[in-house]
Amino acid sequence: VFAHLVQAPEDAILGVTIAYNKDPSPIKLNLGVGAYRTEEGKPLVLNVVRKAEQQLINDRSRIKEYLPIVGLVEFNKLSAKLILGADSPAIRENRVTTVECLSGTGSLRVGGEFLARHYHQKTIYIPQPTWGNHPKIFTLAGLSVKTYRYYDPSTRGLNFQGLLEDLGAAPQGSIVLLHACAHNPTGVDPTLEQWEQIRKLMRSKGLMPFFDSAYQGFASGSLDTDAKPIRMFVADGGELLVAQSYAKNMGLYGERVGALSIVCKAADVAGRVESQLKLVIRPMYSNPPIHGASIVAVILRDRNLFNEWTLELKAMADRIISMRKQLFEALRARGTPGDWTHIIKQIGMFTFTGLNPAQVSYMTKEYHIYMTSDGRISMAGLSSKTVPHLADAIHAVVTK
Ligand code: PMP
Repeated sequence: VFAHLVQAPEDAILGVTIAYNKDPSPIKLNLGVGAYRTEEGKPLVLNVVRKAEQQLINDRSRIKEYLPIVGLVEFNKLSAKLILGADSPAIRENRVTTVECLSGTGSLRVGGEFLARHYHQKTIYIPQPTWGNHPKIFTLAGLSVKTYRYYDPSTRGLNFQGLLEDLGAAPQGSIVLLHACAHNPTGVDPTLEQWEQIRKLMRSKGLMPFFDSAYQGFASGSLDTDAKPIRMFVADGGELLVAQSYAKNMGLYGERVGALSIVCKAADVAGRVESQLKLVIRPMYSNPPIHGASIVAVILRDRNLFNEWTLELKAMADRIISMRKQLFEALRARGTPGDWTHIIKQIGMFTFTGLNPAQVSYMTKEYHIYMTSDGRISMAGLSSKTVPHLADAIHAVVTK
């Protein structure tokens, strides 16, 4: 009965790694994955994560029963504090409901389905461009997806005017997906002054903010700094949703640990929202996994482990920033034509190089360098040893 099925294409992002794995060349370089690598090109398990896991193993009272539908309650409380701030008025007033979900993706999906069922507007505006999974997640959640202008290829920066015009023209009450920091794939974030203008415009039109926070701590190296745009929207007393992921900032990619928080205007509303979230989650996956959330809770509840985590996080962010500088300098040293300052201006894990699909394909064929066809490279996949190879390839392709 399935014989008529056609072969589905690989995922545009995950497909890059599949192609990379098939390449026998010893000089091959994978800049497609959105996962941190050490200077030696190896995946990293944070020291604090190892310590937290050891604590969990040593605790013989731990059991493997199901979690509640909403997940690990302590994890939920600590996650809300981490993103909204320990002194958040919304937490103090019990106006936040948080549920543990399957990493950032699961949090976006649960939030999307909740909105599709219970929010009066069914259209979500996502930035153009955005992470490739966003349109699929929200369409399948039952929302209708439209885009707002975000990136200006001519400046390789923010198209702020276009963004304001598009959100200004969106129907009253529409949902707007905002990357909290380290926009993927462009690496371009609004300034705090621009965020304030976005906030004013959105609140004046009753637009519902849905923040995607996949990189808290990865942009600036500071957890609080990276959460500022969200906290500005909480400070005005209005509603919002936020999807958090611990994949990147704790390196817990495969543990699938994240959280969805919904900030409401009153405590009784937050309680009813939670009851409805449970009805979304129960038939989807019943309840979330226990291990990753337990690791996060151990780290967030312990002052020493928390401080150690912030240092390890800062070290990852700093290594990425250093890769930006090294790549920029390497292109300058080669006299590569063009303005490459966006490499050091962009923020977070990715650089949106401005290379086109034909140039990307040439670099893959001739230099065995793998990246998504939109020219996005993961700075976390680079090292001092591989920067010259990448710079050679970029130089060759733009001067050919
Ligand atoms: N949002 C953005 C912008 C992302 O880049 C990612 C990861 N690539 C995610 C969400 C979700 O990641 P995960 O489900 O692994 O937490």
